[in-house]
Amino acid sequence: MKRFLKAVLLGALPFCLCSCGRQELRHVQSVDTAMGTVIQQNIYTAGGDCTDGIMELIRNLEERTLSWRLETSELYRINQAAGSREGIVLTEEMAAVLGRCLELTEASEGAFDVTVGPVARLWDIDGWAAGSRTGEFEPPSQEAVDGALDLCGVSRLRMTAGPDAGGEEGTVRLYAEAGTELDLGAVGKGLALTHILEYLESDPDVTGATVSVGGSVLTYGSRPDRAPWQVGIADPDHSSDNLGILSLEGQWCISTSGDYERFAEAGGVRYHHILDPATGRPADSGLSSVTVLTKDGMLGDALSTACFVLGREKGMELAQRYGAEALFVDKSGEIFMTPGMEPLFRRTP
Ligand code: AMP
Ligand code: MG
Repeated sequence: MKRFLKAVLLGALPFCLCSCGRQELRHVQSVDTAMGTVIQQNIYTAGGDCTDGIMELIRNLEERTLSWRLETSELYRINQAAGSREGIVLTEEMAAVLGRCLELTEASEGAFDVTVGPVARLWDIDGWAAGSRTGEFEPPSQEAVDGALDLCGVSRLRMTAGPDAGGEEGTVRLYAEAGTELDLGAVGKGLALTHILEYLESDPDVTGATVSVGGSVLTYGSRPDRAPWQVGIADPDHSSDNLGILSLEGQWCISTSGDYERFAEAGGVRYHHILDPATGRPADSGLSSVTVLTKDGMLGDALSTACFVLGREKGMELAQRYGAEALFVDKSGEIFMTPGMEPLFRRTP
């Protein structure tokens, strides 16, 4: 688990009560697991401990919406409905999420594609869990990869809205060809940040917070001493160390996709969890990690995955098209950034 903490949150103050103006603030912290990853919370509040509430929110999102594995989730029902003539009516949130995912598939020329489910299952990515898989791993044959790829692609999906969906205004129905399997692993953590942000905003006692959901980190409000938030970016070669620190004021979402997060090794080759939908194999774009800075969690999470697959040049272009800042680490450890990222990043000496 420790290896998986790629974005180490710094700046936790060594005390739990502090005075900020006339307000007495508590510093509450929690480390827990959900969505197959580590959740770290640092919250400054004039009220009660809200860390349990945030854990519940993350678990609900996984159980009710995002998990491809749990029968209780909307995604599970969607995948079950693939091939049915009547399709499936989507919740408002899922319709919005899938709509944005399809837009990003187009913008990334297919590098980001939530229909990679059959390929992700074939490689058994979720079986690798966080960190590396232990024991023997045998990569799938090219034939098996080709077979799984035949079941992927957004052309297998069709969304209809309003009366066409057989419902009222706002109803969205999804039709997917038989065998299609959606996988929201590339946006789930970012979407969790969006929910956490709403939760924090609805609590007037919270003055500042950092919450990390695996490789996606939310900063919110301010620290009691008004210093910027410090978010570490993991060194892909030694993921328990930081390559550098981002200094950020106020609310941001920082999403990292890296080849060290989930992987399996066989015959001296490392197979990681970020797949190139063009080949059905782990993306080989010359990068080890991409970190994207956005205001919106889901967008940042999708972009970090897309940019990893696209590689440095095209990835840089895509991030900038969305007004996001990005930092790329290539396989030799060299760092490349969008101009807006440079003043925010300080390399660890
Ligand atoms: P992330 O760690 O955010 O880059 O997301 C990687 C996860 O998203 C993987 O564990 C898969 O579940 C899924 N995934 C892998 N490759 C892609 C891709 N090219 N597009 C969309 N989802 C992907
Ligand atoms: Mg992602």
